Amino acid sequence: MYTCGGCGRSVEFDTGSLGVRCTYCNKKVFYKERPTVAKQLKTR
Ligand SMILES: [Zn+2]
Repeated sequence: MYTCGGCGRSVEFDTGSLGVRCTYCNKKVFYKERPTVAKQLKTR
């Protein structure tokens, strides 16, 4: 999953293909989304 730098939407595309554009605003700027993993702290 990537976040479009233009419209900020979550865009999913094949990372193997080059020249991908946002399907909403046609921009080619993307930010890699971080997987939201909640870290659980262990209580000692
Ligand atoms: Zn966009």
